[in-house]
Amino acid sequence: MGYQDGGGFGSRGFGGPREMHKAICAECKKECEVPFKPKEDRPVYCKDCFSKRNNSGR
Ligand SMILES: [Zn+2]
Repeated sequence: MGYQDGGGFGSRGFGGPREMHKAICAECKKECEVPFKPKEDRPVYCKDCFSKRNNSGR
């Protein structure tokens, strides 16, 4: 039986750290960082507001 690697967490060869981009949250106007490139015509939300919006749904 294979008995190595009890739940390999982070042992994947992922492409290194994610690039973060500075942005201003459209909701609370706080400065935040997002793992994607913010677009000018698209509102960017910080983690807080993002999860809030996700929770409230529609
Ligand atoms: Zn926010």
